[in-house]
Amino acid sequence: MVVILGLEGTAWNLSAALVTEDRVIYDVESSYKPLHGGIHPREAAQHHASELKRVVSQLIEGASAKDEDFSIGDIEGVAFSQGPGMGPCLRTVATAARALALTLKVPLIGVNHCIAHIEIGRWRCGTEDPVVLYVSGANSQVLAYHTGRYRILGETLDIGIGNALDKFARYIGLEHPGGPKVEELASKGTRYIHLPYVVKGMDFSFSGLTTAAKEAVDAGNSLEDVCYSFQETAFAMLTEVTERAMAYCGKDEMLLAGGVGANRRLQQMLRTMCGDRGARFFVPESKYLKDNGAMIAYLGLLQFQSGQTLPIEDSAVRPNFRPDEVEVKWRVR
Ligand code: AMP
Ligand code: MG
Repeated sequence: MVVILGLEGTAWNLSAALVTEDRVIYDVESSYKPLHGGIHPREAAQHHASELKRVVSQLIEGASAKDEDFSIGDIEGVAFSQGPGMGPCLRTVATAARALALTLKVPLIGVNHCIAHIEIGRWRCGTEDPVVLYVSGANSQVLAYHTGRYRILGETLDIGIGNALDKFARYIGLEHPGGPKVEELASKGTRYIHLPYVVKGMDFSFSGLTTAAKEAVDAGNSLEDVCYSFQETAFAMLTEVTERAMAYCGKDEMLLAGGVGANRRLQQMLRTMCGDRGARFFVPESKYLKDNGAMIAYLGLLQFQSGQTLPIEDSAVRPNFRPDEVEVKWRVR
């Protein structure tokens, strides 16, 4: 069995996992939670630096205790999130990954974080060739595989949907991360307030919507109604573009990925859209939607098996690493 150790730490979540072909052997994580405001890149990086030793030690100890077949000598590669993400966080985790690869005398594997979200979803759900809606804090993209790459068919023109929800939540006094709290309030909303719906071709935008939602709160509308209207508007935009991508590509499977994918209303809209067009909707369990180490280890495994490892001297982090820069050698079609 090939075992790959994966390290994730692009933003708020530091996590490490050991993955083999047919299962996640073990994983450990440690989350950074800002005291005030949103994610501060330097503070998050300091969190990762101070937690790395514990997380990796617990990973090795936990895996050895849980799985008699596993020993540290089985690790054949160390994968890490090379980007996209926050520079200080990426650099901290990359340094740890290089040190581990050198110590274990195994290859280093640089992984694109967005593609890791996609591949763990395909693996866990068993979907072959889906159109992907990837919605997280910083990123919001619609992607599909075509001739050797994941092509970005549509994306946000400004902030990610998670970031939009978090910013709005902060404005109304909720703690980070705000997405789940907005969902909770939205479930009690009853009245739709008109908010800007911005879809331009295959792209979308959330920053005007966020400002308008803040103004709607200032104008005295109930928080429940504004949260409800925020979700209805933003998720309808995402569903519209995902549906158009499916129609253009002629694909009849759809995969939801990224932390915002945990939102039940978003899932419901996408499921309905897929049902209406005779397509299948897939969403992995929430621990594999949000940032996690298993997805990095798993994509690391796929890349390792197709020979895509990284010399240490080429392992600089890539804060703006786009998924379509990666040659996908592990898929046959
Ligand atoms: P990720 O970067 O993929 O880990 O996703 C983190 C983002 O997901 C944050 O912006 C959270 O606010 C958001 N999020 C998590 N759960 C939910 C939810 N139930 N509804 C909406 N957003 C969510
Ligand atoms: Mg992510």
